[in-house]
Amino acid sequence: MKRSTPVRNKILKLLRVCKYPLSVPEINKKVKANKTTIYRQIESMIKEGILFKFNFGDGVVRYESASNGHHHHLICNNCGEIEGVVLDDDLTREEKLIFEKRNFLVTSHMLEFFGFCKNCQSDTKS
Ligand SMILES: [Zn+2]
Ligand SMILES: [Zn+2]
Repeated sequence: MKRSTPVRNKILKLLRVCKYPLSVPEINKKVKANKTTIYRQIESMIKEGILFKFNFGDGVVRYESASNGHHHHLICNNCGEIEGVVLDDDLTREEKLIFEKRNFLVTSHMLEFFGFCKNCQSDTKS
């Protein structure tokens, strides 16, 4: 456990400064370490709630630091660009309504928006 701590810190540091979630191959480009070690560290950090895991349906699993705060993602269907977005009016009220109507206590939610980024919108117009 102790031996892998530098790898763990490097992954955390990288994800904390990154504005969008990264996949293991992307992390591996910056953090030079055995892929198995990277996976193992990531899995343990997910269990501890330090990292979030995302699957946007393109078969790539991406990770993000939980310290980046609660936000959502804008995902471009054309170029695959991923951008974080904070909603002015988040879903806390909806979560309360779900609890009231369905007696389901929501502890977290994920919400991703799929569409076309600025560049790709102009591509489709021209
Ligand atoms: Zn795009
Ligand atoms: Zn939210």
